[in-house]
Amino acid sequence: MTAKIIDGKEIAHKVRKNIAKEVEILKAKKITPGLAVILVGNNQASRAYVTMKEKACKELGMYSLLLEYPEDLGQDELLSKIEELNQDKSIHGILVQLPLPKQINEMAVIEAISPEKDVDGFHPINIGRMMTGQDAFYPCTPYGIMVMLEHIGYDVAGKHAVIVGRSNIVGKPSGQLFLNKNATVTYCHSRTTDLAYHTKQADILVAAVGIRNLITAEHVKPGAVVIDVGMNRDDEGKLCGDVDFDAVKNIASYITPVPKGVGPMTITMLLFNTLKSAKKIHEKELQALNC
Ligand code: NDP
Repeated sequence: MTAKIIDGKEIAHKVRKNIAKEVEILKAKKITPGLAVILVGNNQASRAYVTMKEKACKELGMYSLLLEYPEDLGQDELLSKIEELNQDKSIHGILVQLPLPKQINEMAVIEAISPEKDVDGFHPINIGRMMTGQDAFYPCTPYGIMVMLEHIGYDVAGKHAVIVGRSNIVGKPSGQLFLNKNATVTYCHSRTTDLAYHTKQADILVAAVGIRNLITAEHVKPGAVVIDVGMNRDDEGKLCGDVDFDAVKNIASYITPVPKGVGPMTITMLLFNTLKSAKKIHEKELQALNC
């Protein structure tokens, strides 16, 4: 069996086209969705992500505000900037690029962002809403995975999803979104004994660890759908995932590549959440205009 490749870049492109259309409609009504991105320090990977987000935002006609601060920024200063953005009517989404320098408490920063503008979906209120099946901003990477599966027409209900990784931003919320869609969910992590025993039971296997080639052919059930979230570098410095792609593609029914898999979907869902926030914040005006 050779797996079908889930082309994240192509799916992202389709979703972005729809977002752009909606942005145009909003702009005709004098509402421009705006995303503020805060970058603290000189982490090169963070800078690259922020640049990609800013570019994607502009491409779709959204307003993008990039705020850059030095590595030694104090926590209070950052919190007061976030409060300003919470009140800023031109901003509908606020994203603080993680990780933050040691002197800043990440959770305090996440909690300072208004849940109504928390387009990353990391605020405990949005996490709680997601867990209780309410409308919420879903974290972008897990949300992107669900949208990819929808696009290939794969119904997760009744399937066994095994998630390798339990971080707050990828692993845990991925499992929750699968559960919300009636999958049976197993989480694996660094303390899991016999990883392959669990992953071999998966109809859908999500690898979100950050270890190159952790998932080999021996970890995968024939016909499984394999989603590779990992972002690592190979010996030549090329981007690669957590899955041994060449071996696993002969066993899986579907597989996401790295790059051009989950990555483009993550940024797309950030833009989707920003649009959603703008529509929600201006709900009353939009209703009045439609009357
Ligand atoms: P974290 O480092 O926060 O979490 C990694 C998880 O992997 C932890 O839960 C850890 O377990 C688990 N783990 C570590 N070693 C093993 C092992 N040997 N077997 C099983 N589980 C293990 O990473 P993130 O969740 O933030 O990111 C995961 C990967 O996804 C990274 O490569 C990251 O770069 C990438 N990523 C990609 C995105 C995209 O858009 N494509 C977006 C975000 C992340 P424990 O909890 O026990 O420590």
